[in-house]
Amino acid sequence: MKSYDVIIIGAGLAGLSLGSELSKKHNVLVIEKGQIKKEHKTWTTEESIIKDAGLEKFITAHFDKLFLKFLDKEKNYFYDKGVTVDDIAILNFYEKTIKDNKSKILENCNFIGIIETKENNVNIKTSEGVFSTRLLIDCSGINSKLTTKYQIYEKIYYNPTYGGIYDVSLKNKEICLIGVIDSNFPISWFEAFPFNSNQTIIYTFQFLDKNIDPKTLRKIHESQIKNCYLKEELKGKKMIREVYGMIPIGEIKKNAVDNIFFFGDTDLMGSPIACTGFSNIISHYKRISKHLSDNLVNNTLKETNLNYIFDKLEQMNRDIQTIIGLILLNSKPEQAEIFFDMFGILPNKIIKNMIFLRLSISEVGILVKTIVSKFGFKKLAEILPKKEYMFITREIFKATEDIVIEKVIEDIYNIRHNFL
Ligand SMILES: Cc1cc2nc3c(=O)[nH]c(=O)nc-3n(C[C@H](O)[C@H](O)[C@H](O)COP(=O)(O)OP(=O)(O)OC[C@H]3O[C@@H](n4cnc5c(N)ncnc54)[C@H](O)[C@@H]3O)c2cc1C
Repeated sequence: MKSYDVIIIGAGLAGLSLGSELSKKHNVLVIEKGQIKKEHKTWTTEESIIKDAGLEKFITAHFDKLFLKFLDKEKNYFYDKGVTVDDIAILNFYEKTIKDNKSKILENCNFIGIIETKENNVNIKTSEGVFSTRLLIDCSGINSKLTTKYQIYEKIYYNPTYGGIYDVSLKNKEICLIGVIDSNFPISWFEAFPFNSNQTIIYTFQFLDKNIDPKTLRKIHESQIKNCYLKEELKGKKMIREVYGMIPIGEIKKNAVDNIFFFGDTDLMGSPIACTGFSNIISHYKRISKHLSDNLVNNTLKETNLNYIFDKLEQMNRDIQTIIGLILLNSKPEQAEIFFDMFGILPNKIIKNMIFLRLSISEVGILVKTIVSKFGFKKLAEILPKKEYMFITREIFKATEDIVIEKVIEDIYNIRHNFL
């Protein structure tokens, strides 16, 4: 039986990015049930995230003006320096790094299950035979075989996304970050971003508490295309490529069990507003790789050591995502409008730090207070089932308890007076 320091299940962004780092020091095998992604998901993120990761050469479009759209009203909101990247080129880049580091990627190799977990290794069964590893990393995405088995999630909900790339240029148009363009329930959200300077990607998505085939959103998408703010430009244009998928969002109990670690969509790295799984993987993979590498070197491959404890601030950021996600999941259009209004009064910096999981403690305080002041506990109780309402209330108190109240009050004053 062939043996490796690390076996990673899944050659998506999570598996390949971690693999590219870990293969610098360790003998890694990445197994992929299909072939390394051939289709685009198109990843939009903030320029600074791409620059920090040294991936500038993969940028295909820049944008700096976005708006939120609610029915026929535009609620302006500016979010500076957004970019779209060539996701396939990034995957190819990580693939090459893994191979250059003399580690291995095995395509058409389906992970079937774990045969046994011992103290120092895990034996796994795949369609290409049995392998042994000191550390197994599950990066197999939304339909992971292990997350349910090991009860990794506290809460999980879904973001089916269906759309496509259209031959329309957004050059002289502002970009719709998120919009509600009809008043049906559950809400179907709408988004439009540049794919490159000549083409635009337009998505339809929903927040759901069940896993569905995202293509069921096709009809809604077609109707949105006929009625959206780009309808004149889109007249007679066909979708030139379908882009779709399911994004899991929610809360994890832990991200390690025995000598198995979870990362990427299996670790619910996304956040609801801008489906930021890509951005958060890129922001975190180097830190997570170091954590895993240290455990490999020190031979401390046990759940207690492997479990990556988010520091208090990171945990608060993840809690905020759960709160926002649950609000959106259960919102009727009129409640979604309150949500959009809330964005209107928050400083841009807080909105983008919320999306990219990097709110400071005082910003968490401001955001939490704004949610409560906009919705009120009464409305939150209307939107949410009791269990979720209690959860949110607890989270709000947890978050506010930890902040230095004076600092928040001072920040609000400074923001009002444009000192921040
Ligand atoms: C349509 C769409 C648009 C998005 N847009 C954005 C965006 O603009 N910005 C952003 O930040 N994020 C975006 N995201 C989210 C982001 O793409 C994901 O969070 C990210 O790609 C997850 O990467 P991953 O490697 O964890 O999972 P995946 O990309 O799903 O990779 C999992 C891999 O594991 C393989 N696999 C599964 N089961 C097995 C098995 N049994 N054996 C072997 N291999 C297996 C799969 O074939 C796959 O290659 C978008 C997602 C979608 C679907």
